[in-house]
Amino acid sequence: MRNHTAGTAGLHALRALARGHVHGGYVWALVMYDGELLCEQCTRENYRQLYRATTDTKTGEPDWCAIGITNSGESDDIALCADCGRVIWTGADDPTDD
Ligand SMILES: [Zn+2]
Repeated sequence: MRNHTAGTAGLHALRALARGHVHGGYVWALVMYDGELLCEQCTRENYRQLYRATTDTKTGEPDWCAIGITNSGESDDIALCADCGRVIWTGADDPTDD
């Protein structure tokens, strides 16, 4: 699936995460077009590259195209950053949540 579409949703998500404009209480991660996740720190460090890839699909690197954000409350699985390899969250272990 290389025909990624750079939508405004991805751009809004990228901006929100880079500026810390996200809901508190959760750990947040940027969702890349291929389903990989990026931690908040890497989102800030690579913001220019992410911005270009998300807004310009012709010259931007597809691997850096953001499609949205997600948080630790939406995942039961461990999440690793695709860039630095850091554990973003370890996964929900709420016994009532299945
Ligand atoms: Zn990272």
